[in-house]
Amino acid sequence: MSKRGKSTEQIHHAYQPPSGWGAVPVPIYKASTVLFPDTAALHQPRSREKVTYRYGLQGTPSSLTLAARVATLEQAQHCILVPSGLAAITLPSMAMLKPGDEVLLPDNVYGQNRYVTTGLLSRLGITHQFYDPLDAAGFERLLNERTRLVWLEAAGSITMEFPDLLGLLRACKARGVSTAMDNTWGAGMAFNAFELAPGLGVDISMQALTKFASGGADVLMGAVCTRDARLHRRLDEMYEFLGYGVGQNDVEAVLRGLPSLPLRYRAQEAAALELATWMQQQPAVARVLHPALPGSPGHAYWKQVSTGGSSCLFSAVFKPGYCAAQVDAFVDALTCFGIGYSWAGPMSLAVPYDLTHSRDLPLPWSPQEGGTLVRFAIGLEELEDLRADLAQALAVLG
Ligand SMILES: *Cc1c(COP(=O)(O)O)cnc(C)c1O
Repeated sequence: MSKRGKSTEQIHHAYQPPSGWGAVPVPIYKASTVLFPDTAALHQPRSREKVTYRYGLQGTPSSLTLAARVATLEQAQHCILVPSGLAAITLPSMAMLKPGDEVLLPDNVYGQNRYVTTGLLSRLGITHQFYDPLDAAGFERLLNERTRLVWLEAAGSITMEFPDLLGLLRACKARGVSTAMDNTWGAGMAFNAFELAPGLGVDISMQALTKFASGGADVLMGAVCTRDARLHRRLDEMYEFLGYGVGQNDVEAVLRGLPSLPLRYRAQEAAALELATWMQQQPAVARVLHPALPGSPGHAYWKQVSTGGSSCLFSAVFKPGYCAAQVDAFVDALTCFGIGYSWAGPMSLAVPYDLTHSRDLPLPWSPQEGGTLVRFAIGLEELEDLRADLAQALAVLG
């Protein structure tokens, strides 16, 4: 063969991983094109049963390694990686529902899940109802012949009620209704979503790897896990329809975050519990919402299924005497807490919420009992610095 040009030579340069390369990090493989050895291989249909590399969108050895590790974290058998936590919500809803079906969501569901359901799914002729996650009997009455999917979230967003998971799951199981859990808060640490009691668990668990798995506040990614091979195939088919894929630089970042996830989770959880307990004693605060605190809504349900974990979030409801502008001034006075969304990164965050227009059911407190709510996400700063910062900002409230 005649000598090829420089570019051809480079592009067709043979590559073999160095033998004896025993480094711990997973090599990062990137591809859109995946070459077939010959046309016979090209003509073979794709198998959903075993890994065959046909195109970059279906994953690379790096992303499949990350998927396998997240499946292990969640005690699942299968895992699909998608480009955000929100994509990990849309995927199961789109895979499990068709026009005429109904989906049930807890009233404290993550806001974007509510938005996908009321915005996108209803446009497709899929109806929905919101349920009280603390009332399994009331929930059971909402189940009907059109209910195909029930979303669960533990703990729920912002108001942090921990659902009666066992009661809700028993009702779903009795009627053969599929269940999907937003497990971002638990992150595979707080409980085993697939085995909450002997023989009782969710069908699908998704989490925003954006949060604890990454830990760096620098990546967006989601995971959809199952134990059931048939369900996985159904999710995998929708994954192909939607063209979801993850960037391999992001895969690298999450692979790097996973080994320290348990340590970070335990450290942030301990600090959050300590600060939540302290906030509860402050005169300006009507109540603190944190599933591990006795008196917080759903605390007993959290104890039923917990393997000890309680994540890094809590919300403080200020006394009704403080108006929203005063509570905003408190948040603005914080110096260790950033103002922004997402959580479980190194920096602590605080966000005030007005829930009056974002819920269908009544809040767990009346306007006479509590006013504006601030959701805190505890990061990795020194605990005493965070406590001192909260104290000086509370002084602003007077
Ligand atoms: C952040 C979050 C998501 C969405 O994750 P993104 O990667 O930001 O899309 C979903 N559910 C919960 C509970 C979250 O906190």
